[in-house]
Amino acid sequence: SSKKTNAGAYVYYNFTLRNASNRTLLLEDRLQKVLANNELEMYYQAKVNLMKQNIVGVEALLRWNDKSEGFISPMEFIPIAENNGTIIQIGKWVLEEACQQAKKWFDEGHPITVSVNVSVIQFKHINFVQTVKDALLKTKLPPQYLILEITESLLISPDETIEVFHELKELGVKISLDDFGTGYSSLSVLVNLPIDELKIDRSFVIDMMRSEKKRSIIKNIIKLGNDLNISTVAEGIETEDDLSFLKGELCELGQGYLFLKPVPANELIFDGNGVLVKK
Ligand code: C2E
Ligand code: MG
Ligand code: MG
Ligand code: MG
Repeated sequence: SSKKTNAGAYVYYNFTLRNASNRTLLLEDRLQKVLANNELEMYYQAKVNLMKQNIVGVEALLRWNDKSEGFISPMEFIPIAENNGTIIQIGKWVLEEACQQAKKWFDEGHPITVSVNVSVIQFKHINFVQTVKDALLKTKLPPQYLILEITESLLISPDETIEVFHELKELGVKISLDDFGTGYSSLSVLVNLPIDELKIDRSFVIDMMRSEKKRSIIKNIIKLGNDLNISTVAEGIETEDDLSFLKGELCELGQGYLFLKPVPANELIFDGNGVLVKK
């Protein structure tokens, strides 16, 4: 902040900065303890084939319910973990945990995919491909059941990462572009990179029945995906109206509170028809 700023603005700026860093320092400290005590949890949200109405997979989502601070959103702690490097350790744990759970379902006769969110820092880390390989070897999950979700921010410099994409494809895992439409990448990544799935960002799905612009964007992403033979997943489906619009546009897959909220694995069971449902 410049000394020429008026006093009020200066004080305000200082105040918010100090608060932010106090909270960050506190969470950094707590995060170390939580990691040491193995207190992070994995929740799973169903991914549904919209036409057939069956669950084809789940997305693994991290949960931190802190003993003293209460529930802390991954939107808050993932950036902190990225900043202090603990994301590498966390990401490795998430991969193993999610693969192990998917292998368990596979062994029970329910081969469903598990989608794991991968941070940019983690993806660009020198050992990333080996970490994925290790998780598959350790858990014996057939690779085609693992989907890695990456965000468009990774694709700003695709030249640096193209090799990693091809190594991952060689392992047999699938790659999904998360939060599609909100990043900065150009559509040429769809030509140059082996992408298996596009996830339409929730911001487009929220209130889409009241926004012709949003519906038009969604429609065109689905069409693009279908034309390029890339699966499309709509995030954050909350109403029957959302669902029927998406089905009408031939969106293959969806996730959202209309189907299931994220829950721990032991709250998900298979009914008599082999469909994953909430206990
Ligand atoms: P994301 O990967 O885009 O995950 C989707 C988010 O939307 C999840 O929030 C999910 O709970 C939420 N969601 C799904 N359906 C609905 C719905 O119908 N309505 C509403 N209101 N929300 C819905 P969550 O679990 O809080 O995760 C937020 C973000 O944190 C994720 O966004 C992802 O970027 C990141 N994240 C979560 N787990 C991990 C992880 O294990 N590793 C990494 N690197 N990032 C993670
Ligand atoms: Mg995701
Ligand atoms: Mg997403
Ligand atoms: Mg999102």
